[in-house]
Amino acid sequence: MRPARASLTSVIGLAFAAACASVSALAQEPRGETWRGREIIKEIGGTVVSCRDSYGLNVHAVLVSDLGDVGRARNLYKTPVIMMDPSHLIRLPGKLQLFFFGHECAHHVLGHTYVLRPGVETEADCWAAKDGRDRGLFTRDDVQSWAPWFAQSRGSTVSGHLPGPERARFILQCFDDSTDTAASTTVTQQR
Ligand SMILES: [Zn+2]
Repeated sequence: MRPARASLTSVIGLAFAAACASVSALAQEPRGETWRGREIIKEIGGTVVSCRDSYGLNVHAVLVSDLGDVGRARNLYKTPVIMMDPSHLIRLPGKLQLFFFGHECAHHVLGHTYVLRPGVETEADCWAAKDGRDRGLFTRDDVQSWAPWFAQSRGSTVSGHLPGPERARFILQCFDDSTDTAASTTVTQQR
């Protein structure tokens, strides 16, 4: 059975350039990494989202088309940024959209954008699963229901993502693992 589509209920984009005046003089951003002037992600699936990195800095979350993936976490000119592709997001159920936001946020929370090392993708998955659980954002049933979406992805030895079915199992395992809670850093808050 094909799961129902969910709509992306995010996006309030306004005069973002003003907030970024300090970096406006800088040119030559790498292609596909431009985030200034993009629509800001305020909420996902009806849940207000925010993210702070390992230094407590506010992470800017913006929509970027043609990202090549559902989301990316980067430090651009010393500003922590989450970029999410609306065309990928809109195909996913709201809770899974939230999970992917949590995954990208986890890269900032856990300092992955500063030090690249093996295992960051599974770490981010696990953190996002526990964070969503601890905040009551999704239930075990929600996590289980994501399996068909993960089933389609093959994984990658380059990015470190597990093959889909394995990744879905791993995320559920993290959700079930109560020995550890996610970080104390605020990622999401429900209205
Ligand atoms: Zn990742």
